[in-house]
Amino acid sequence: AGELCLTVVVLGASGDLASKKTYPALQFLFQKGFLTRNTKVIGYARSPLTDEQLHAKLRPRLEGGAAEADAFLKRCTYVAGAYDGPEGWKALAAALAAREARHPACPCGRLYYLALPPSVYPQVCSGLKTYCDALPSTEGSWIRVIVEKPFGKDLGSSEELAATLGALYPENQLYRIDHYLGKEMAQNLFVMRFANMFLAPLWNRECVSNVQITFKEDFGTQGRGGYFDTFGIIRDVVQNHLVQLLAFVAMEKPLSIHPDDIRDEKVKVLRCIKPVQEHNVVLGQYSAAGGQPGYTEDPTVPDDSRTPTFAAVTLYIDNDRWAGVPFVLKAGKALNDKKAEIRVQMRATPHYIFPGQPEATRNELVVRLQPDEAIYLKMIVKKPGLEIDTAISELDLDYSKRYPGVAIPDAYPRLILDAIRGDQQHFVRRDELRAAWAIFTPLLHAVDAGRLPLHPYPYGSRGPEEADELLARAGFVKNLDYRWHDAPAG
Ligand code: NAP
Ligand code: NAP
Repeated sequence: AGELCLTVVVLGASGDLASKKTYPALQFLFQKGFLTRNTKVIGYARSPLTDEQLHAKLRPRLEGGAAEADAFLKRCTYVAGAYDGPEGWKALAAALAAREARHPACPCGRLYYLALPPSVYPQVCSGLKTYCDALPSTEGSWIRVIVEKPFGKDLGSSEELAATLGALYPENQLYRIDHYLGKEMAQNLFVMRFANMFLAPLWNRECVSNVQITFKEDFGTQGRGGYFDTFGIIRDVVQNHLVQLLAFVAMEKPLSIHPDDIRDEKVKVLRCIKPVQEHNVVLGQYSAAGGQPGYTEDPTVPDDSRTPTFAAVTLYIDNDRWAGVPFVLKAGKALNDKKAEIRVQMRATPHYIFPGQPEATRNELVVRLQPDEAIYLKMIVKKPGLEIDTAISELDLDYSKRYPGVAIPDAYPRLILDAIRGDQQHFVRRDELRAAWAIFTPLLHAVDAGRLPLHPYPYGSRGPEEADELLARAGFVKNLDYRWHDAPAG
């Protein structure tokens, strides 16, 4: 058989995600030689664009000079068509068939990438299934469909969407993107946990006091709050991205690195989590401060919106390993910092014989996913000098220093490459999605009904004080004596 004849069809090619993420990711893979020479990208949407108009729209988003951009754009064509009538789908099917007929000996791969609002997924999948499902019979040919969040707004709507898509495409053809699964450090969590003997005996309720999984943004909705306002921070970040990280932190070791063995263990641990209880939640909404507008001053947000822009949620995992250990998922916009990290705080050392407070000198393992990748372990050492005194220092793995010059790829190229290779490890399986929604749906319904207090917090602050109280209840003790040697002055 010949080389794979690969066609990526970007549905919704005229849109924001397509030009911001999908096409640049494809260009990255093309430039690095990860796509076969026999690759074409067909854009599809209703907007009446010519190939040249599409290229002009994409060019500013692409890497490198004009020559590099053009080398990639030469492979990109466009088909205009509706999502609801047969004509567009027939034109797309004809373009695919004509291209594949030119390579009769090659296996053909078709990646249908839905860069569209989920409201049109059912219609689009049905059109693709009806008109664009006939593959050449060459062995090794395949069709795979990539879909983007949001996958529903709660358990019921998510299941309904999953059932509609599932009736058209079996699970092994569906690739649900949660781009956190494409992040270097999310993937690293899995290796770190299961390849290191020193962690294994400590990773449980005997030794771990509490776990924090945090996402912080230092800007607000900036005039683009329309979409966000209908979802809120729990649906936008916590229920999907932070829960995926939690699954990696808490799962048992899978049988093997086979994608379904891994996903089986992720589902299992998520199913050990009972729905969130309202007293374990703190919600917030940012208000104007320091010359920055409050959330409801965003012209795209209703003046009386009660959508949370901050949430801290404590979850408990009812299994032998984790019973009683609080996992606090915390996410917010317009905060003092920009970061995503996992912080595992150990219990205090028993029978502490040194000066100082054992409660305030705890080991902590921090895995920082962004803005720059790092893993550090806060460790109690002897303060350098003549006296026997202690200090909190760190074993520090800073990726930019340890791997200088190594560019860590963005999540999208990784995930698209995985889909081309048929590896579903970093995509969300239907039962995983169901388990994640089951944890949050009762809470979300209570939030939507306005039943939970919403604490205002100033733009640029650390969020509502009530969140620190929640963390303290979860047993978190901040290491007050820890100083980072590189900390900016002041
Ligand atoms: P978008 O720009 O609003 O829509 C993409 C394209 O879909 C539009 O160019 C439009 O193309 C078509 N479209 C829009 N509304 C439609 C409607 N009501 N009915 C039929 N077609 C419609 O969306 P996007 O921001 O690219 O996002 C696409 C998907 O990715 C969504 O599921 C979104 O939640 C998800 N996502 C986006 C981002 C992001 O950064 N933008 C990040 C993560 C996930 P035509 O009018 O030309 O047909
Ligand atoms: P930190 O920023 O001091 O935060 C530690 C924890 O304490 C976070 O959970 C934080 O919550 C919480 N916290 C912060 N202020 C608080 C307050 N007033 N009351 C209650 N809780 C509070 O982080 P760290 O791990 O101790 O590190 C300190 C600095 O060293 C950071 O800037 C870190 O980036 C740097 N460092 C860098 C590296 C590296 O780059 N390789 C290695 C080690 C340390 P929030 O998450 O809500 O802020």
